[in-house]
Amino acid sequence: MSDTIFSKIINREIPAEIIYEDDLALAFKDISPQAPVHFLVIPKKPIPQISDARPEDQALLGHLLLTAKQVAEQVGLGNGYRVVINNGADGGQTVYHLHLHVLGGRQLQWPPG
Ligand code: 5GP
Repeated sequence: MSDTIFSKIINREIPAEIIYEDDLALAFKDISPQAPVHFLVIPKKPIPQISDARPEDQALLGHLLLTAKQVAEQVGLGNGYRVVINNGADGGQTVYHLHLHVLGGRQLQWPPG
């Protein structure tokens, strides 16, 4: 897989507002927030998109969800939030390193565009 901007954030080659890190995952603020709180949770393993995930990634994928909820609690999203994964062209994915969007801090609408 080719290097993405998110690999560069993991490797500290470009700056980001990192709010959580462990051996497997990183969470940082989205550069173009779509809600008062908008952060991304990414695996350090460079899985390009969720449709590339494999059975051996099961524990990692669970870890990303638990990280999303833990960081959401830390940043005060007690009233609720949304977790989104955009996959591929029709899903609106622009960065091909798997990431969970966590959005909150306002009433979100449904359905999304
Ligand atoms: P996607 O459209 O692939 O689901 O989401 C990619 C997200 O990454 C977008 O919300 C975009 O604002 C964010 N993003 C793109 N480049 C950067 C960057 O250099 N730094 C940060 N913090 N976020 C970025």
